[in-house]
Amino acid sequence: MGLTNNSIGIKAVDSGLIIKKQTPHDKVVALAGNPNVGKSTVFNNLTGLNQHTGNWPGKTVTNAQGYCTYKSNSYILVDIPGTYSLMAHSAEEEVARDFICFGDPDAVIVVCDSTCLERNLNLVLQTIEITSNLVVCVNLMDEAKRKNITINLNKLSERLGVPVIGTIARKKKSLHRLMQEVDNLLNSRNKNKTVQIKYTAPIEDALSVLEPVIRRKTQARINSRWLSLKLLDHDDTLIKAVNKYLKTNIIEDREIAAKLAEAKKTLSDVGITGEILRDQIVSCIVKTAETICDGVVRYENIDYDRRDRRIDRILTNRWTGFPIMIGLLLLIFWITITGANYPSQLLSDGLFWVQDRLTDVFRYFGAPDWLHGILVLGVYRVLAWVVSVMLPPMAIFFPLFTLLEDLGYLPRVAFNLDKYFKKCCACGKQALTMCMGFGCNAAGIVGCRIIDSPRERLIAMITNNFVPCNGRFPTLIAILTMFFVGFSAGPFQSVLSAALLTCVIILGVIMTFAVSRFLSKTILKGVPSSFTLELPPYRKPQIGKIIVRSILDRTLFVLARAVVVAAPAGLIIWVMANVSVGGSTLLNHCSDFLDPFAKLLGMDGVILLAFILGLPANEIVVPIIIMSYIASGSIMKLDDLSALKQLFVDNGWTWITAVSTMLFSLMHWPCSTTCITIKKETRSLKWTAVSFLVPTVVGIAVCFVFANTARLFV
Ligand code: GDP
Repeated sequence: MGLTNNSIGIKAVDSGLIIKKQTPHDKVVALAGNPNVGKSTVFNNLTGLNQHTGNWPGKTVTNAQGYCTYKSNSYILVDIPGTYSLMAHSAEEEVARDFICFGDPDAVIVVCDSTCLERNLNLVLQTIEITSNLVVCVNLMDEAKRKNITINLNKLSERLGVPVIGTIARKKKSLHRLMQEVDNLLNSRNKNKTVQIKYTAPIEDALSVLEPVIRRKTQARINSRWLSLKLLDHDDTLIKAVNKYLKTNIIEDREIAAKLAEAKKTLSDVGITGEILRDQIVSCIVKTAETICDGVVRYENIDYDRRDRRIDRILTNRWTGFPIMIGLLLLIFWITITGANYPSQLLSDGLFWVQDRLTDVFRYFGAPDWLHGILVLGVYRVLAWVVSVMLPPMAIFFPLFTLLEDLGYLPRVAFNLDKYFKKCCACGKQALTMCMGFGCNAAGIVGCRIIDSPRERLIAMITNNFVPCNGRFPTLIAILTMFFVGFSAGPFQSVLSAALLTCVIILGVIMTFAVSRFLSKTILKGVPSSFTLELPPYRKPQIGKIIVRSILDRTLFVLARAVVVAAPAGLIIWVMANVSVGGSTLLNHCSDFLDPFAKLLGMDGVILLAFILGLPANEIVVPIIIMSYIASGSIMKLDDLSALKQLFVDNGWTWITAVSTMLFSLMHWPCSTTCITIKKETRSLKWTAVSFLVPTVVGIAVCFVFANTARLFV
């Protein structure tokens, strides 16, 4: 559910290391921190932007930047992906590390979770090794208070040697002091005298051999002690990044190579190599964090998260976890379908009333038929359909889903599904990327960055399309309601609709498992990697904010995209349906050509053509079908779903056509935006082609088997 107009780049620029300064005086401030500590909330409240926030680790996978002014300075804040350490393991951790190390930020704010400060200090200490221009923001102070955890912020500041500010990021006011400290830091000439991690004696000896030459050669462009440690640790990806930054191959420098060999020898002489060295480095950082926290953090009530653990026992239990998950999905769909019915009808009545008035205006001015056809029957009618059918379900579904996200339920879903993903030799985090796919498959694809193993990441990308995005939801709901439920919005009908929709989604999940397993046994062979998935604490959601943001950022954004694509599509279809060549319209030529193949899949040429023309956005598939039927047929007025069903039935639809169309909607090629995103993420045409072909071939196979089997029984 990561798609918002900001997170995909309208305001906040997802720019990696490229910073867009408005004036040369802008100061760049990086917002770092562990995942799920409130970085994006701090970012949003300071910049006024709306980066995606959510109660689960891994939702921010790229850098985003925004502007903020405070007193004398203007700042560019960069929200970087959450990371536990700067010893990067995954793609998004690399993004974070590279920005802190090589993005040349003027200052870094490390946001920490006050309820588990000691663990958060690991990142603070690693950042302090790189830069002393640092402010520590101890966030979630309200949660700490609720859990009876007290923190002596002054003492912490003294021990770290950097400013420390306690905040409640959801309250904008509490961030003033944070910016005040950043302002002070950047205006002051005195450098912070920061804490230094003390490593074991052999490591310190090795550092004293290597550091002087590194300091001289890099001319203080990078912290020499830190870089020396990384060279000793032979952090490959980091060394590559350093070389790029310094525009030289650092380990090819003869002097450095000689000292590095000498330093490594002092370590190997005492048996410290490879993994042992890394273990010692990590344990020194952990011990330092422990010492710093001693006497700074007080837990009055050791069992502070008992309530969370109790809830977890129910939500992630073998017997109750799955029924609750399916029950919640059902409930959300039920509320969506029931709630959407009435406003949909109202909107539809209103918009079609406007269509009649528009027609009156065209007649009054004596406009030619073709112009009325293109603008009113083509462009306007498609738009009216898109708005009346898509807006209400999205406006209800998104806030409900975001509510679950904010509560912290999504990682529990990933936890429940993990076992099954493992069985398919895939990664449990794939469940999170599927949840993002519910909003938009392109966002789901970018979200796959949270999966460390490239093999498992590819599996997650190729199968993400089996989760219907919001462009396909309304299609599914409309067909279900028309053909299987009936039109009165009685309680039984809507429960049945929701149950059927849940079944469709479950089918998508089953296909995801099956295809993931197939890929792991064939072109993407391998064993599942292990990973740690943090179950974040349950947090009270901000209902008002959820409603406003999900309607403004998600619903209206998606709708705008649909409208932008639907309007020209309406025009093209109208032209195709009205320009004749050789006695038949262009539309008929195309659909007749596709008809034999489409019939094999239980559909007809028009439906298949609509899916093909719907490549830019799935939202327009049904409007195209309607337009095509209307152009060649009888009904001119479509003001409710029963009229629509009649139109479809008149054009030969049966329940087999309906099911086949739903199956094909669930399983066919990804939309063009998703394909472009896959190409960007994989940098490979081959994997983009595979991602295109896999769901398509599966969809064709499933439709073929279903349609031909079903026909045997009718
Ligand atoms: P990020 O992953 O570090 O960017 O974290 P987010 O900004 O997405 O926040 C994670 C969750 O914590 C969201 O549900 C926020 O609403 C919530 N949150 C952030 N700051 C605070 C805070 O100070 N107090 C409380 N109670 N919740 C917060």
